Amino acid sequence: MEIACLDLEGVLVPEIWIEFANKTGIEELKATTRDIPDYDVLMKQRLRILDEHNLKIQDIQEVIATLKPLDGAVEFVNWLRERFQVIILSDTFYEFSQPLMRQLGFPTLFCHRLITDESGRVVDYKLRQADPKRQSIRALQTIYYRTIAAGDSYNDTTMLAEADAGILFHAPQNVIDEFPQFPAVHTYEDLKKEFIKASNRDLSL
Ligand SMILES: [Mg+2]
Repeated sequence: MEIACLDLEGVLVPEIWIEFANKTGIEELKATTRDIPDYDVLMKQRLRILDEHNLKIQDIQEVIATLKPLDGAVEFVNWLRERFQVIILSDTFYEFSQPLMRQLGFPTLFCHRLITDESGRVVDYKLRQADPKRQSIRALQTIYYRTIAAGDSYNDTTMLAEADAGILFHAPQNVIDEFPQFPAVHTYEDLKKEFIKASNRDLSL
């Protein structure tokens, strides 16, 4: 059996923190790991900013509910789920991504958690495990699933390398240049073709 593993942000939906910053007009929330390489420092800053703007999880989800998956993403996920079991492997948070996952029909998602208090204030975050995308692929292999993975960025490359087949989708040129071993495509039609090619079944029908 084969499982398709997909990154979420940049592959099916826009970068959620960036879009959230755009929607709320809170410039400081646009910082990413490129600006602040220590993820814990970055997340603590994000939580502090949410607090300063008195944004509770309900307010955050309301804003995120106005975001849309990327054009063609819903159709692509439906196409893929007819042909593979699909798991989304993401570094987002369940509570943060929920409004977008609803629009995708709630495919299986492995990601992290935000910790909220009874008022809905986001007080902390909980990472599921270290190197979670790669570890998930390894876990699937221990139960004899063949894995085909697609992602757009550096945090996907250990997953792509561990999988039986890895595909870059919507990746920036520097990532494509650095990882020439992976096919790189930019449209969902081409991504479908790469999944068909990578599969050990005949999916052409
Ligand atoms: Mg991504």
